[in-house]
Amino acid sequence: MASPIEELKTAIRQALPDLDMVIAWTAGPDSLSHTPLFITDAADIERIEWDSRCSQNLAGYLTSLRGKKVGIVAKGCDARTIVELLQEKLIDREDVTIFGLHCQGAVDARKVRTELKVGRGVQGVTIDGGAASFAVNGETQTARLGQVLQEKCFRCTGADAEVCDHFIGEHGQPPQVDDAPVSTLDMLEAMGMEDRLHFWEDQMTKCIRCYACRSACPLCVCQDHCAAQSRDPHWVDQTDHPREKLMFQALHALHTAGRCTECGECERACPMDLPIMTLKQALNRQIKDIFDYQAGTDPDKTPPLFQFREEEEHIKERKW
Ligand code: SF4
Ligand code: SF4
Ligand code: SF4
Repeated sequence: MASPIEELKTAIRQALPDLDMVIAWTAGPDSLSHTPLFITDAADIERIEWDSRCSQNLAGYLTSLRGKKVGIVAKGCDARTIVELLQEKLIDREDVTIFGLHCQGAVDARKVRTELKVGRGVQGVTIDGGAASFAVNGETQTARLGQVLQEKCFRCTGADAEVCDHFIGEHGQPPQVDDAPVSTLDMLEAMGMEDRLHFWEDQMTKCIRCYACRSACPLCVCQDHCAAQSRDPHWVDQTDHPREKLMFQALHALHTAGRCTECGECERACPMDLPIMTLKQALNRQIKDIFDYQAGTDPDKTPPLFQFREEEEHIKERKW
């Protein structure tokens, strides 16, 4: 039986003549993270890589490629983002061909560097049970999943690309992580409101306002009309104060409320290692609680905050 990567290459080879391009992953300069590969020439198919270093959510490119016939390789969380983009009518289903995979978890390059003292020279990563093995310069180094996976993978709600045109390999369960640390959200929800505010003010002192979190987010679609730049209205000023930085994060969280698929790209992109996905997870918990809705799971559903009713029965039930 062909390996998933060979099966993937075969499926892409067959589909490419009818597509303008296929977006997949390839080896990048950093041996701990694979980078996007835009395939228009069949010769590039051999450059495709697929393992736990394929962290980037490639769905972030789809809106800017609207109007083209695009194939895209997707893990479970990436596929949920594609579904959310479809639900919001930001892309057209007939133009997108999804090559879906089962994902065993994505490694966090920063954690691997710290935990294993490994940087360049990683030739392969395999996940088996609760451990990850890294092939480094002819030797194998292992780590527990709780040490090296991305935060989002500890609470993955589905590792298979549920909505796709070609499912590659075998279906499976999310990674079983026995040693996952307590999530930042759980830690915060055990605190009082004042302490939560202090936590975020402390975090925001580190923010350098690079807006990589915004640029990396596949669902952050205001583009040139971002509130961070707008001077009319003037939402966020340039004062180097945690309050202004938190204002932007609050805006981003509200813009992605009930839309965020918890793909983790905002956190992965943050050069200051700030736990900013937590803000979106907190709102997602509320949306799940109130509307029983999870972003990106049903292409035929309208996201709850895209609907308006004069009488919102569920909100009344909570006596707000
Ligand atoms: S959240 Fe799930 S699908 Fe996404 S990278 Fe982690 S394990 Fe894979
Ligand atoms: S807010 Fe962060 S986790 Fe949510 S969709 Fe955007 S990048 Fe992904
Ligand atoms: S990526 Fe991090 S440092 Fe940059 S603006 Fe976002 S939170 Fe701040």
